[in-house]
Amino acid sequence: MTEALLAQALLALGGNVGNSRAILDRAVALLLEKGDIVLKARSADYLTPPWGFKYQAPFVNLALVVETSLSPRDLLERCQQVELALGRDRAHEKRWGPRTADVDIIAYGDLAIDELGLTLPHPRLFERAFVLRPLVEIAPDRLIAGKTVRQALSEVDTTGIKRLPPER
Ligand code: ATP
Ligand code: CA
Ligand code: CA
Repeated sequence: MTEALLAQALLALGGNVGNSRAILDRAVALLLEKGDIVLKARSADYLTPPWGFKYQAPFVNLALVVETSLSPRDLLERCQQVELALGRDRAHEKRWGPRTADVDIIAYGDLAIDELGLTLPHPRLFERAFVLRPLVEIAPDRLIAGKTVRQALSEVDTTGIKRLPPER
């Protein structure tokens, strides 16, 4: 039997327009729908203060560990298809402003690339408690650019981040 080569990837999801918990739940379901992305772990949902542009509603954020047979580019395309399906309108939005669903690739295996439209690991991950706090729950010892998620989290300010209880 031949097995497709699988890579482990870390995904970060967030949104602050509409019922964000329901929308991000749907985003996870859509990501997994075709079977070429397999869920290994999902963090709790977190309520986080807005980052970059402060004058907007708090975000809901969560993180996923997945395995995928998709290439990094195909995984990015899938993430963007899911954003579109959930009503994201990148053409009319403000940088780091309100959005229904944002799906970022935080890491893909140990790949380091900096290409037009795709940088891995995600270039701003080490500045972002809203990414690292959910991620530490499911991948504390995962090394990203030589640093564990736990170590990276200890270097950011987690003020105002709240772990949300399960909805049901
Ligand atoms: P940030 O990238 O700071 O989190 P953002 O998520 O709001 O900001 P978007 O408008 O969603 O930014 O994406 C802008 C572009 O970033 C995308 O079109 C995509 O090509 C590119 N990009 C580069 N690296 C990545 C990555 N690792 N994950 C997701 N998108 C990426
Ligand atoms: Ca983002
Ligand atoms: Ca994005």
